[in-house]
Amino acid sequence: MKSVLEPVKTKTINLLDFDRKGLAAFFVGLGEKPFRATQLLKWIYQEGVEDFELMTNLSKSLRTYLSENCYIATPEIVLEKIATDGTRKWVVQTHCGNRIETVFIPEEGRSTLCVSSQIGCALACTFCSTAQQGFNRNLSTSEIIGQLIVAQKRLGAEKRITNVVMMGMGEPLLNFNNAVAAMNLMMDDFTFGLSKRRVTVSTSGVVPAMYRLTQECDVSLAVSLHAVTDELRDELVPINKKYPLKELMEACRDNAKIAPRRTVTFEYVMLDGINDSLQDARGLIKLLKTVPSKVNLIPFNPFPSSSYRCSNSETINRFKTLLTDAGIITTVRKTRGEDIDAACGQLVGQVQDKSRRHLKLHAAGSERAGAA
Ligand code: SAH
Repeated sequence: MKSVLEPVKTKTINLLDFDRKGLAAFFVGLGEKPFRATQLLKWIYQEGVEDFELMTNLSKSLRTYLSENCYIATPEIVLEKIATDGTRKWVVQTHCGNRIETVFIPEEGRSTLCVSSQIGCALACTFCSTAQQGFNRNLSTSEIIGQLIVAQKRLGAEKRITNVVMMGMGEPLLNFNNAVAAMNLMMDDFTFGLSKRRVTVSTSGVVPAMYRLTQECDVSLAVSLHAVTDELRDELVPINKKYPLKELMEACRDNAKIAPRRTVTFEYVMLDGINDSLQDARGLIKLLKTVPSKVNLIPFNPFPSSSYRCSNSETINRFKTLLTDAGIITTVRKTRGEDIDAACGQLVGQVQDKSRRHLKLHAAGSERAGAA
């Protein structure tokens, strides 16, 4: 029996927090060869082995070190909702008790997982319900890749996830290192092996991080544009005040330059009477002239405290036709999982708000009420 005076050893290193490069550096730090990284990734991701003693190609002493100091842990699915269209939303609990949401979207020929990158969101886009939740913290790499691991486990081998979009809760580029490590893992041949075209990161326009992404991580880029003038974008996507359209488009051009035929996807939420006029469509065509681009029109998904309405289908179609006629490939995002609140901008989880957004919103509300 252990003496009570013996110090309690705690396992402090979650091995899912490392991509292959990080893992190789970790092993080198232990005096091991870097190739231990691929051996370990294979055990964890391909063989599903979590007991270090079963990792027989690692030396006995390394196995003992790992058993004493490391662990492998994902967040946990605590609730599953399945929509009539087959979309599934999982509420996923992190070790600190906060809850995030992960959405699985099956389609003809592919199935996409929409992954969260933060608990809540620090940005305050006015049409997004995640924004109303406030912000708690960045997710760790293990909590991001963990969403893919638990989702794939839940679905079973016959329902393979083929695409990942970093379009769940949070702004991935404000959690750059962890989001990039998790995306590297998704694309690693020894883990999920997703192709770089099938991993998409969506950003509200964190310009310096976009340049860094272009240099460091070759994934598809989507940009939440939503408005074609600074005046309107300042209001809808307030980070625009820091990084206005001119700078944003320059960063998009930089991204498009790195590979031939690379396009940037621009997301554009359709808000009735706000950004859906013919003039807006013409403005969009002009803005996108210098970037190889695709446009994804997103019908606005309402949530309880929102005052916006979705543009009607006639308006959306007219907007789409104008863009298509100008030679821009344009799709209208199908709203999926609406009956389980799993659609874009409807993910809320359960966030212990550290940003005090609730108080700020409340104060703003009272101010407005006072002014009226
Ligand atoms: N923070 C990142 C990732 C979120 S992705 C980003 O802004 O890109 C989610 C996409 O859905 C974004 O384009 C977002 O602007 C859009 N969205 C948010 N709320 C929405 C709503 N209520 N209806 C439709 N789209 C919404």
